Amino acid sequence: MSRIHYTKPSITDLEVEFASDAARNGWGSACYAYIERFEREFAAFLGCRHAIATSSCTGALHLGLAAAGIGAGDEVIVADTNWIASVAPVTYLGATPIFVDVLPDSWCIDPAAAEAAITSRTKAIIAVHLYGNLADLRALRAVADRHGLLLIEDAAEAFGSIYHDTRAGAFADFGIFSFHGTKTLTTGEGGMFVTSRADLYEKVLTLNNHGRVTGQTKQFWSDIIGYKYKMSNMQAAIGCAQLQRADELIAGKRRVFETYHDLLSDLPLSMNPEPEGCVNGYWMPTIVIDEGAAFDRQVVLDAFKEDEIDGRVFFWPVSMLPMFESRPENAISYSLYRRALNLPSYHDLTEEEMARVANVIRTVVG
Ligand SMILES: *Cc1c(COP(=O)(O)O)cnc(C)c1O
Repeated sequence: MSRIHYTKPSITDLEVEFASDAARNGWGSACYAYIERFEREFAAFLGCRHAIATSSCTGALHLGLAAAGIGAGDEVIVADTNWIASVAPVTYLGATPIFVDVLPDSWCIDPAAAEAAITSRTKAIIAVHLYGNLADLRALRAVADRHGLLLIEDAAEAFGSIYHDTRAGAFADFGIFSFHGTKTLTTGEGGMFVTSRADLYEKVLTLNNHGRVTGQTKQFWSDIIGYKYKMSNMQAAIGCAQLQRADELIAGKRRVFETYHDLLSDLPLSMNPEPEGCVNGYWMPTIVIDEGAAFDRQVVLDAFKEDEIDGRVFFWPVSMLPMFESRPENAISYSLYRRALNLPSYHDLTEEEMARVANVIRTVVG
């Protein structure tokens, strides 16, 4: 029986060709060619004005928050159910993440809870599209506008998700993506900062170039302390190839989700929602066992292990981690993680492999 990994990238001859070309020819005057092309084509794909390739999504968020002037004493509102990467950069700048609860169906930030958490120190709301599910962007935009706040979209898990004709990541003041090896589109490691705001674009360009302003004629002259979260030309070459296959990569994820959904539809559980008018990129098919149904996620993980299947736990509430003060009043976040699991989801997973996964779930949940 072969091992079912929870995720792995879809790499074809195209990516190998592009990467080989970058390794062979992408130097000297061509050393930024794939980077510029990846940025241009990614922005066009999303339908936003600007994109800046970065070494990670974490770096892209750090740059964006810094460009927005967020710093010591400021508060940034974010959902409690999250991966630490959506939170850590807030603390790098000396600001404080304020954790609020999620909605029970999308597992994304609750706009009413976000509004209730606003204080005179609040500067921004980060909407994370969890596992491909879309946050309620219109409601969040309205909250942000009422209080003069920045709205940020962490679309690391939502490449391919579409919110009423706008691609995830292109709706807010700025968006960020990850191209880590586990993500729908990968460059191994990597990320992207996207925005249609010229001011944020210029600031992030400067910040990501060690504070050297575009057009500065003095060599090695920095005007401010900046950062350097850059992507290499070789990674960008792989990104260009992946982007050329974007529709295929997204279709692969959607096929995997739909197969699981059919296989598990009679069990007392729910999966990633796809609201009317929206498209879910289904980065990670996830099951949430109904409240009240008998379920122990460790029992499923152990059963997976016995069957050579990689299981993946749903994100813990970030406020449960030792660096933060716990917030059990975020009742949905504190209930969800115990009832939920991510299923293996790489693009070319076979029907037989998914049936194997479903059978294990059925023996434990059924
Ligand atoms: C993967 C991920 C990140 C971090 O991406 P890196 O490229 O590893 O920094 C941030 N936010 C979310 C929602 C993610 O899933």
